[in-house]
Amino acid sequence: MDAAASDALVLFGATGDLAFRKIFPALQALVARHGFEQPVIGVARSGWSLEALRQRLGASIDAHGDPADRAATGRLSALLRYVDGDYRDADTYRRLREAMGVARHPLHYLAVPPSLFPTVIDGIGDSGCATGARVVVEKPFGRDLASAQALNRAAHRVFAEPAIFRIDHYLGKEPVQNLLFFRFANTFLEPLWNREHVEAIQVTMAEAFGVEGRGRFYEEVGAIRDVIQNHLLQVVAHLAMEPPVGEGSEALRDEKVKVFRGIRPLVAADVVRGQYTGYRAEDGVAPDSQVETFAAVRLHLDSWRWAGVPILLRAGKRLAATATEVRVFLKRPPQQVFGEAVPAQSNYFRFGLGPDRMAIAIGARAKRPGVGMSGEDVELLVCNERGSQMGAYERLIGDAMRGDPTLFAREDGVEAAWRIVDPILAAPMPTHPYAPDSWGPVEADAQAAACGGWRAPQRE
Ligand code: NDP
Repeated sequence: MDAAASDALVLFGATGDLAFRKIFPALQALVARHGFEQPVIGVARSGWSLEALRQRLGASIDAHGDPADRAATGRLSALLRYVDGDYRDADTYRRLREAMGVARHPLHYLAVPPSLFPTVIDGIGDSGCATGARVVVEKPFGRDLASAQALNRAAHRVFAEPAIFRIDHYLGKEPVQNLLFFRFANTFLEPLWNREHVEAIQVTMAEAFGVEGRGRFYEEVGAIRDVIQNHLLQVVAHLAMEPPVGEGSEALRDEKVKVFRGIRPLVAADVVRGQYTGYRAEDGVAPDSQVETFAAVRLHLDSWRWAGVPILLRAGKRLAATATEVRVFLKRPPQQVFGEAVPAQSNYFRFGLGPDRMAIAIGARAKRPGVGMSGEDVELLVCNERGSQMGAYERLIGDAMRGDPTLFAREDGVEAAWRIVDPILAAPMPTHPYAPDSWGPVEADAQAAACGGWRAPQRE
């Protein structure tokens, strides 16, 4: 790990949507809470002035940041610089170099369309702006295994692996980190956390909203590329990995990569794809689009700990709720001591990952009051909290500025995750229609039938 902290943030894509919705608010929070004071150099080609970028910053904070903290917004505004120019023009980088002034360890943040990642990386390299620098690459990192490998090669022509920070903002989320913490900071889970006791694992990432005007973008992506290859596989890695041996970011990332390598590449029989009715009428969507807005997959993880345990993931838009949840179902007791069978899915660990609260709960069977020995399902709530105020982008940009790669995807991890989904990306498969506000196409029900069916996530 390069120990030198970054002394400037270069924001390619400063006039774009991501900067407006996430990056400027995160920088305001870093200024307010963590003493961020490095210059922020926006680079885009809108023909804007520094003043126009400052106005954009103000509007971004009004809409998505903390408008009441005018002092932090003012300090951030004073740190801003702006370079206007096309990323395909060498002169843009020459002027960027000037704007960087005395900075020797810039962090280049690529919040630009993915097709431009290699162009910008080459421009940074050719102009000498890569010396002593790090680069943050936004998602998606490739659109299949081959393009991810090509992008890794392009990045490595200019940057060494420790200087490349691939964002998966899910890893910056407090509840996702807590999955890992709860597993390895307690002793009581470990004896149960294996194929002897675990019946099945389900992860649901449900969004009640649709593509929200980003139909053109979504048409190129679909649910598997958008959230399963990255966010949900990262959640699976946290659930399934072995405890890291030794300290440091690489020990943790090594174990996660082993999980990805142990998961069999998907085949069509493992996958159900769906599309909500009305998607084809969205702006930018083809009238005959086959792109999936829902996917349910069954993973097979070939490890000593997990062999044979179904790991079921589903993600979709326009579903009946917005909630992300993990359930780890335990097997039923071996005998009916009280003359009634414990229903399937009565014993479980539940991790609510948001959007509002983080929850950790244990599902159990308890005696129903009265003379008989009959039971009911209850839930022991271990923790139910709002996540820390630290947003994912605030956390990740701060980490990247310090050079801490723990919460970023490594080259081998990204490629191993693509290897899992790659075979079904281009496979001819049906896209089943489903009604908005439902739980997706009925065809997905069969995947979970053997383990008691899909459980709807609980909104905390
Ligand atoms: P936008 O299209 O809104 O912004 C693109 C930015 O790149 C603009 O600042 C644009 O400048 C600049 N740009 C594009 N082409 C050139 C060029 N040839 N020369 C100079 N500047 C150029 O994209 P988003 O902000 O939505 O997305 C950015 C990245 O973040 C993408 O990789 C996306 O996948 C990723 N991402 C986005 C999310 C989101 O919610 N928006 C969520 C997660 C990831 P100008 O305006 O001046 O043309």
